[in-house]
Amino acid sequence: MANHKTKSAGTLFVVSTPIGNLEDLSSRALDTLKRSDLIIAEDTRHFGRLAKRFQIQSKTLSYHDHNESSRSPEILAQLEAGSTVSLVSDAGTPTISDPGFRIVRACREAGINVIPIPGPSAAIAALSVSGFETDRFTFFGFLPLKPGKREKAVREALASDCCVIIYESVHKILKTVGLIAEIEPERQLFVAREMSKMHEEYLSGSAQDLQKDLSARSSLKGEFVLIVRGAKHSLNS
Ligand code: SAM
Repeated sequence: MANHKTKSAGTLFVVSTPIGNLEDLSSRALDTLKRSDLIIAEDTRHFGRLAKRFQIQSKTLSYHDHNESSRSPEILAQLEAGSTVSLVSDAGTPTISDPGFRIVRACREAGINVIPIPGPSAAIAALSVSGFETDRFTFFGFLPLKPGKREKAVREALASDCCVIIYESVHKILKTVGLIAEIEPERQLFVAREMSKMHEEYLSGSAQDLQKDLSARSSLKGEFVLIVRGAKHSLNS
């Protein structure tokens, strides 16, 4: 059973922010951010762009992987004292391949309310336009950096019966698609690049076709979501 604090304890809002187009910020997210006593942001300068666009004047504090442990007691103390705190990441839903789960867990353990303000997430946005079966899926996030572990993860993705969603950097997308093309050239892939931004692009096809397409480009820029279609791609397989 959740352990809820008395009315005087504050609330931590986990606020999703746009993954590109700033106009995707929901009005409830904006209202929550404006009403917050404190916004804890993965990068306060990055958040500054959103704050400027929407005239959000709440106080901000940086909160990322390297200061999570040292910052948490201070944030918890403010919440215990009744403050409204919002957690944001650079883009999308906080805690999803982004910092934040530790403060969420600490709040839950302390009986402080934690409320999501739902909104964009690159994984779901990409899956929703892939045309692949969406009844079940697995989220791998970023693959390990070490080549051996990376290949193991790719093989694990290929063994999955349902779609696997992978976050990729510009430096790794071609390598990963190439590796899949080597192991299973006909496997169907979907690549979402720069969603909701100026150079938004969607590609689907076999691993070998996508490898050819991507490697033929003189420059490849942006942020990518790669979706590997399930090995058995019938619904509820
Ligand atoms: N928390 C975020 C979310 O909910 O989607 C994800 C943060 S993670 C650090 C950033 C990764 O998400 C990028 O490397 C890329 O794989 C993916 N991503 C974020 N925005 C994207 C976009 N506009 N288009 C394509 N991929 C994107």
